[in-house]
Amino acid sequence: MTLVDNLVRGATDYPMRAAYIYNGNETTYEELYEHVRDTASYLAQTGIGPGDHVALLLGNSPEFVIAYYGILLSGAAVVPINPLYTPHEMLFILRDSGVRMAIAASVLLPAFEGVRSQLPELEMVVLVGVDECSVPWAVPFPKMMAHTNPEWTPPVVDGGDRAVILYTSGTTGTPKGAILTHRNMASNADSISEYLGVYTKDKFVAVLPMFHVFCMTVCLNAPIANGATILIAPRFSPKPLIELIEEQQATIFAGVPTMYNFMMQQSDVSASALSSLRICVSGGAAMPVALLHGFEKRFNKVISEGYGLSEAAPVTAFNPVEGVRKPGSVGVDIPGVTNKVVDAEGGELARGEVGELIVQGPNVMEGYLNLPEETALALRNGWLYTGDMAYMDEDGYVFIVDRKKDMILVGGYNVYPREVEEVLYTHPLVMEAAVIGVPDERFGERIQAYVVRKDESLTEDELREHCSRDLARYKVPRDIIFMEELPKNTTGKILRRSLKDQIVK
Ligand code: AMP
Repeated sequence: MTLVDNLVRGATDYPMRAAYIYNGNETTYEELYEHVRDTASYLAQTGIGPGDHVALLLGNSPEFVIAYYGILLSGAAVVPINPLYTPHEMLFILRDSGVRMAIAASVLLPAFEGVRSQLPELEMVVLVGVDECSVPWAVPFPKMMAHTNPEWTPPVVDGGDRAVILYTSGTTGTPKGAILTHRNMASNADSISEYLGVYTKDKFVAVLPMFHVFCMTVCLNAPIANGATILIAPRFSPKPLIELIEEQQATIFAGVPTMYNFMMQQSDVSASALSSLRICVSGGAAMPVALLHGFEKRFNKVISEGYGLSEAAPVTAFNPVEGVRKPGSVGVDIPGVTNKVVDAEGGELARGEVGELIVQGPNVMEGYLNLPEETALALRNGWLYTGDMAYMDEDGYVFIVDRKKDMILVGGYNVYPREVEEVLYTHPLVMEAAVIGVPDERFGERIQAYVVRKDESLTEDELREHCSRDLARYKVPRDIIFMEELPKNTTGKILRRSLKDQIVK
């Protein structure tokens, strides 16, 4: 099956069901397919088709869903880009992926005007948010949507065709385009649906950014593959989000740990506000165990944590919704996917031993665009090397220790920041925490913690003492810096790298 087949099936089998709800307004599968078809036939008329790449720079909106599936139906591949990127960041991806067209928020027009001369392959930009536009190479989205060509037949799309080129920083910092085929993306949406147990009547909250693979697979492709409904939330704000869940009786919520944290801090929200939710999933970053328990107690819900990465479209492991869920673990293999922990030579390690997590399955990318050497490093002997350190317990549950490159070396001892962060989160006055290694003359590196407090009465000494109870001396943060907030990316992941960059600067 391809992503396109899933949508066509929805429009055929459940034409009158709501595909998405935005601002209280429903759009049915039949209507969505019509919009998608109009978009695709317009793209085809301008010469876009199989083999082409089309950039998508939009926030969560109906236009995102329509444009995403429209590009796929035309046979082209989607290059999703964070619309908050600077022109410099945008330019890198637009050029690297060689896009011929972009569908973008109209506020980005000046940015496109600035970089267009450096993008010889870019022929046209479709702008969302305007009805008229005098720039010759820009077309308003409504004009594209008004295009209808009943004669047009969509090209045949195969599972092995490119669906999405996802730019990820990976381990080197320079963005690389992970090539994900229809089979990669559709199989992952199916595995997740099968594993979690998704029904047609489910309502998914799509508040994570749709341009990120976590939302794309779990909150966009999975509901479409099941004839379920997407509740489109344009941005994360805890109170309105909880209201949306209550009002719409949402059944599935997917978030990153920081979202759970902010929701938990809402003191004026009733404990039953989330009672309609059947499944709460967390992914994208490590869920601190103290936060998991805090949220579950506050709302009487169970969180299933999963793990994934862009290169695997993205999910590889998940905690079961029904059955044994292990806090601190990202669960077990999802259907069709195998996780394995290996040593530096690629040999499988015994249960309990820490090594690099590698992954195999129909969800694993084809490779990085135009980067054969990087691809050969990431894909070895049919396995994807994740760059994450992990161990597996006796029951096959995977525990992510941390990113390989984030390991801190203190006087010859290995310290993974996550272990220290987990302990910081157990202090009742800690709201958020991040740990990095900073250069130290005596020990090579030392542990530095950044903490957002719930109350200013919390002191550095108290927190250090708290850490000393659970951590060996060399793991206790030498410096603790209190912050108003921690740097995060648009998905809500805390960015240790930008804390490190500040130190370097
Ligand atoms: P991205 O490709 O941007 O989705 O980032 C993937 C990375 O996020 C992985 O390689 C992990 O380092 C991290 N990650 C995702 N899910 C988890 C999780 N549940 N626990 C710990 N780290 C995670």
